[in-house]
Amino acid sequence: MTEVITQMPVFKTPPIPMPSVWKVCHYNHHTFFQFDMKKGEIQDYHHQRNILVGEDFIVALLKGLEHEVGESAGWLLYTIGYNWGKADAIEFDKWFYEFYHLTLQTANLHFALETWWWPLTAQGWGTWKVDLTSLKEGFIFVDLFDSAVAKTLGYVGKPVCHLYAGLIAGFFSAVFDKNLSGTEVQCYAMGNDFCRFLVGSEKRIRATEFWLSSGATVADIEARFASQEIAADLELLVSGDYNE
Ligand SMILES: [Zn+2]
Repeated sequence: MTEVITQMPVFKTPPIPMPSVWKVCHYNHHTFFQFDMKKGEIQDYHHQRNILVGEDFIVALLKGLEHEVGESAGWLLYTIGYNWGKADAIEFDKWFYEFYHLTLQTANLHFALETWWWPLTAQGWGTWKVDLTSLKEGFIFVDLFDSAVAKTLGYVGKPVCHLYAGLIAGFFSAVFDKNLSGTEVQCYAMGNDFCRFLVGSEKRIRATEFWLSSGATVADIEARFASQEIAADLELLVSGDYNE
């Protein structure tokens, strides 16, 4: 049975003059963070409380979870990331409107996504590159450079960025108002130069994880998707305004 595809509102290029990104993106610690020495608090540019942690914290977080829940630690981190992504989309919607009078539904998608991610770069989560060329086929590739988790752990021979996979899947689920899943298809901790994530329907992500466990590479997975080995089961974009 063919699934009825619900159409999303059209993403429009903002009709209002936009300030230069250099005036609104603050990567410098002294402009992004506000240090309240009296209260011992750090707030970021969007009034959210931050804490500064080092690599020991990341190692302790992963090891602590592994100690508590064993092999489910990866799934737990993914779930934490997923909820973080969904909650962050709600927060983002607020400050995105406050800054630009735009929403995820009315803004140019590329602009909205870059605006969402730059504070994460400022916080030390790394930079990203989103590939939206396969939205009509229902999946998205995201490249992540300098993953805080993978760079901390170094080479361990398996993907370790479950938190990021969840964060990205949760955020895109909110953007497209669909239940999307995510998985890491290559990781710095596997010896790759950077991490790559795939976001799509749960069915596709499960298939991808099975193929990965059977030794498939990212190129194999892209080829299998291109050959419609798993039929496209959702569409993520209907915008006439969208330009890659
Ligand atoms: Zn990774």
